[in-house]
Amino acid sequence: MIYKNRTMPNILKALQALNKRLPRNHTKKNIIEKELYSSRAGYAGELELDTYMTDYNPTHPYALLNDLYLHINGVYFQIDSLLITPTAFIVIEVKNYAEKTVVTKNPIQFIKVYKNGDRKARPNVINEVNRKIQHLEKWLNKRNIQPHIEGLITFAQTNELSFESPNPGMKILSTDEAPAYLESLSTQSSTLNEESIHNIAIDLAKHHEEYNPFPLVARYGIKPSDIMPGVLCPSCLQLGMKWNREKWNCQCGHKGKVEHLHTIGEWFMLIQPTITNREFRYFTRLANQNVARTLLKKSGLQKLGEKRTSHYIQRKQSLI
Ligand SMILES: [Zn+2]
Repeated sequence: MIYKNRTMPNILKALQALNKRLPRNHTKKNIIEKELYSSRAGYAGELELDTYMTDYNPTHPYALLNDLYLHINGVYFQIDSLLITPTAFIVIEVKNYAEKTVVTKNPIQFIKVYKNGDRKARPNVINEVNRKIQHLEKWLNKRNIQPHIEGLITFAQTNELSFESPNPGMKILSTDEAPAYLESLSTQSSTLNEESIHNIAIDLAKHHEEYNPFPLVARYGIKPSDIMPGVLCPSCLQLGMKWNREKWNCQCGHKGKVEHLHTIGEWFMLIQPTITNREFRYFTRLANQNVARTLLKKSGLQKLGEKRTSHYIQRKQSLI
């Protein structure tokens, strides 16, 4: 049974917002577009695995947790999918690369091969998964669980793969092959019963934290003033809705009362975790201070400070 579902990662939401609000000629535009592309591809690969995993139907109990972000001894680690069966914990890593990947032997490397034949080493995915396994082992040891943990690397179905080593040290499959492979794993020497699997899965899900990459201007060294202000129209996806007659109005004809909420969310993701009345007016291009006060009051934010020092923050658990 699935104990944790996957949702769109915060970094992807924020990169989409940043890319839209960063002028075309900005020096960081290229980097942001690349990061957005790879983040989108990664998420698409993970969703593809989720779709195939709906075919996973073993006769034994199991727990599946998608996109887990945990920490142990001050170290954070993320697992794309964690499967718990009666015999093993399986750390599943999903990759989705545009270029062909060759897995070499002696030494084992993941080589990116461009269309023109150029080659460039990628980070070693096996080492990446092994680090996650070590962290997970420590996390479980702390709870008096001595686990048997395995790694599984899956590549999105469209990825071109080539192996120079028949046995690179960890199972590497295409996402569509994952369910059948996982079902074929033996559960003869089982150590966990249904109740233990359930309890561990609940504990893992409870300790999951949302990865917080905000604000993006600090992460990428972008000046806040370079971020284009304006309320985004959900209909035509252009910035620049105008407040008039108690509504946001777009040139395309769309009208609405709550479009500033999304804009505030983007402010927190991109610029900083607090917003003042003045900053709200700047970012929504709203002239009227009293209207701004009313909209901020009704926006579900927490107000801190009084008069000149007053500002708003997000309430906990309401991240974007
Ligand atoms: Zn519009």
